[in-house]
Amino acid sequence: MKDVIAALRAAKTVLMCLHRQPDGDSIGSTAAIALALRRLGKEVMLVTPDPVPGVYDLVPTYPEYIPWSAVKDRRFDLVALFDCADERRTGAPQDLKRYAPRVLDVDHHATNTRFGDVCFIDPQAAASAEIAARVIEQLGVTIDREIALALYVGLETDTGGFRYAATTPDSHRLAARLLDAGLEPGEISQQLYERQAVSGLRLLGAALQSLRVREDLSLAYIVLSSEDFERSGAVAADAETLGIVDYARRIEGIEVGALLRQEGPHEVKLSLRSKGAVDVSHLAARIGGGGHARAAGATFEGSLEEAEAMLLALVRP
Ligand code: 5GP
Ligand code: MN
Repeated sequence: MKDVIAALRAAKTVLMCLHRQPDGDSIGSTAAIALALRRLGKEVMLVTPDPVPGVYDLVPTYPEYIPWSAVKDRRFDLVALFDCADERRTGAPQDLKRYAPRVLDVDHHATNTRFGDVCFIDPQAAASAEIAARVIEQLGVTIDREIALALYVGLETDTGGFRYAATTPDSHRLAARLLDAGLEPGEISQQLYERQAVSGLRLLGAALQSLRVREDLSLAYIVLSSEDFERSGAVAADAETLGIVDYARRIEGIEVGALLRQEGPHEVKLSLRSKGAVDVSHLAARIGGGGHARAAGATFEGSLEEAEAMLLALVRP
């Protein structure tokens, strides 16, 4: 942690990047650090490899994200990544060292590849936002309402609203401090969860129709094809913000829930969720992905049918 603080303090210009298909924790922890660094007079640029879903427009930095193509040949003192398990997840078109002489890698994924020059990985943290809060404290920056809001979005979404097993007393203590900074939890939940487009709910309908249950493998999985997205008018981010994969895990007697989501003719995104008996990060790692014991993912190259066969082979004991 001392090295993390030193690296941030030493940098005048910082490039921060979200991970592919950014979620609430990537957006929230990154935004909180960016705001804190600006309070210290530093210049921070925010990049995203994929569009930031509109439900996160409550995060103060929401309008700022630019694509990698807009970074061009600019160089910075530091590239700082929060919640990004490996370098490929940044979607950067070039080696990160092209953008800065030092790379900072702060994360809570146990499968983090420690690709930075300075790394701080704490798999005990329920969200990268918990680590970001500690970093901000050590930087001596006060957690004002804006920073609190960014941290809360990361913490609330990555703990599934404080329901997931990774939630600790520290998660709740941080939440209490963030609420003390002036946040309204009901208002935030409404903005995050009660502004769903009808197209997303139509996609959920298709997802539940496709649900396949393999009791012999303790597996339930949902398959979403490109046509499902076209028919419903939903986008990939809807599948995530609606927590579609969680429906597969909800079933009694099922240990592993999965979602196969077609991203292109030869690309399928796999999401895995476990009740605890199976470490799905190990399963995802076998095909080049990663994540946590109870929530992991990977990208598979091939057709939806091939991805389905791969999934069944992956969970077969
Ligand atoms: P999701 O299924 O919601 O996309 O991701 C679940 C968890 O697995 C998240 O913590 C996410 O960061 C991680 N994850 C998802 N896809 C990948 C991937 O392709 N590579 C790695 N290393 N982690 C992933
Ligand atoms: Mn994330």
